Amino acid sequence: MRLRTKLQACHLTRPSSMNASQSLPEERQPYAKPQPWGMALDMVVPEVLTDDPLLWAPVGENMWSRPLHLNVSSGFYVHLLKVKRSGLLQRHRHSGMVHAYVIRGKWLYLEHDWVATEGSYVFEPPGETHTLVVPDDCQDMVTLFTVHGALMYVDPQGNATGYDDVFTRIEKYRAHFQAVGLGEDYVKRFMR
Ligand code: FE
Repeated sequence: MRLRTKLQACHLTRPSSMNASQSLPEERQPYAKPQPWGMALDMVVPEVLTDDPLLWAPVGENMWSRPLHLNVSSGFYVHLLKVKRSGLLQRHRHSGMVHAYVIRGKWLYLEHDWVATEGSYVFEPPGETHTLVVPDDCQDMVTLFTVHGALMYVDPQGNATGYDDVFTRIEKYRAHFQAVGLGEDYVKRFMR
């Protein structure tokens, strides 16, 4: 996919290589037909772990989020959550599934007895209700989250107090990009 995007970006300057590719063994020949009509644009986000503060929107005390993919047609978003020093993400219930991959550090849920440590993959089924805590002995946590549907913020009895979904996230990222001078439209590069 990386190669294809590079070619899309450079297609005006790239000489036609069709003849050359036909001389390659078939398994080395690229797909020769157009991509399907109507498909969404592919996307490559380089250097996802950059520390550039412009790309990380503050989402709480000691917490930042970097959007990678904001999908408005399927209602999910992919982002990196970064916590410096300890942190807490408000209690919430998920309407859709969540995938998480811990890139650095560790975190836990007050509601579970396991700890998601560096290198772990976590699946959270719809209905999961939890409070994410980065413990005091972790000074640097980064996790890749894919969040489907909505987070409903709840009190300890499960009563809803608010929500977040891809659309509220888009609004927060838009406001952040506008505030740091990148412009509110910067968020569009992450939207599909
Ligand atoms: Fe969650």
